[in-house]
Amino acid sequence: MTIDLKQARDRLNALKAETALLSEKSQLARKAVQLDQQSVGRLSRMDAMQQQAMAQAQERARSAILVRIDQAFRLIEQNEYGYCLGCGDEIAIKRLEIDPTATHCVSCKGG
Ligand SMILES: [Zn+2]
Repeated sequence: MTIDLKQARDRLNALKAETALLSEKSQLARKAVQLDQQSVGRLSRMDAMQQQAMAQAQERARSAILVRIDQAFRLIEQNEYGYCLGCGDEIAIKRLEIDPTATHCVSCKGG
């Protein structure tokens, strides 16, 4: 195993912080949209609703990322980080550098 676990942890922590920050910003944006909705006409209200739906989808994606980050931390603790959950092979380091929450190798690609 050639994976630098400290580096992996750093990457995961950075990703987590970044995701939390985005989530916070988007919460403020969502509140702003709600305020807008009370004061604007029908057309922009539809715009606002669309924006809100998009923001909610992004928020769901972010919670999914947070779940994956926690899973990655668990795998690190269990000394199983960097191994494919599908076939047990090592996951390519390049792949983990791009997505530190990857749990499957390229050929299994579960996530
Ligand atoms: Zn695999």
